[in-house]
Amino acid sequence: MNKIDYLRISLIDKCNFRCQYCMPEDQELSYLLSSEILTKSELLTLIKEVFIPLGFTKFRLTGGEPLLRPDLPQIVTEIINLPQTEDVALTTNGYLLQEKSHLLFNAGLRRINISLDSLNPQTFDKIIGNKNRTRWHKTWTGIQTAYEVGFNPLKLNVVIIPDVNDHEILELAALTIQRNWHVRFIEFMPIGNSQLFSEKAWIPSSEIRTQIKAKWGLEESNIKGNGPADVFKIPHSKGTLGFISQMSECFCDRCNRIRLSADGWLRPCLLNETGQIDLKTALRQGMKSEKMREKVAELLLLKPDINFKERDSGTQNNNYMRTMSQIGG
Ligand code: SAM
Ligand code: SF4
Repeated sequence: MNKIDYLRISLIDKCNFRCQYCMPEDQELSYLLSSEILTKSELLTLIKEVFIPLGFTKFRLTGGEPLLRPDLPQIVTEIINLPQTEDVALTTNGYLLQEKSHLLFNAGLRRINISLDSLNPQTFDKIIGNKNRTRWHKTWTGIQTAYEVGFNPLKLNVVIIPDVNDHEILELAALTIQRNWHVRFIEFMPIGNSQLFSEKAWIPSSEIRTQIKAKWGLEESNIKGNGPADVFKIPHSKGTLGFISQMSECFCDRCNRIRLSADGWLRPCLLNETGQIDLKTALRQGMKSEKMREKVAELLLLKPDINFKERDSGTQNNNYMRTMSQIGG
């Protein structure tokens, strides 16, 4: 069985963007009260007393937008300082990186993924649901700041949506030629905005690779990550191109991760709602760490069945209760 040692932690369900594919404008979203969100101390207790003893060593902090959480630098440092921790990374939309990159670097963080779906300010604003002043320039400056501060690897996550940003595939891929940046194309999933998904569908990674290959050629990279990305590079480029193909290719058999939502629900599979455990209530009602560990260990044993069992019906029905921002994408 695959070793499950990677926990993705959503620190907050709120966001300063409202991306079409994640939090659609016309959808009423209910946000958590701050009292419902795991505190830093509760999160650290779960990590130290439940997850680390079960063999978890890799952690990704995400959201919603994790940079909205004021105690993010402290959370980063405390997780990094645990002797068993092998890796801590962050996924952000980059909007606040201009002012927060230094703080996060000084807190010990080195690995960062920034979502960037367009190099065109108008398209970018359309995707992130912004009607006022453009947010592209500040996001772009945030990415440059993170690079200058020394984050390495610096990865850019791109979701390609037909008729929205598919004309920018080559431009986005070209970012890896002169810079040591890693652009990762993530297939659009029917989570968050199933209507947009049904209207536009998704572009398989193989099609994106074909376009890039026709322009520059493409070779397999010897740099491999912790996760499910297939990594390639444009010949002689400084960075790499990753492809995360959860729609076109089932990689459940190599899945090494589970997800903890901001309100403490542990979820074994992104594409499946079954089997979740409410760890916040358990913790707040005084359940012993040993008992929580037992419950999580049981869930880990069930995970391979959960991964495979309902994935197909879930993706076909486009019927997910929570958005990516709520789950912690
Ligand atoms: N706010 C941060 C950000 O945007 O990077 C972190 C949370 S966001 C939910 C994490 C990742 O999920 C982003 O890279 C985003 O593009 C991706 N995502 C959100 N909804 C998605 C969907 N329906 N299909 C594929 N990826 C999605
Ligand atoms: Fe916010 Fe990230 Fe979702 Fe966009 S993808 S709305 S930035 S949580």
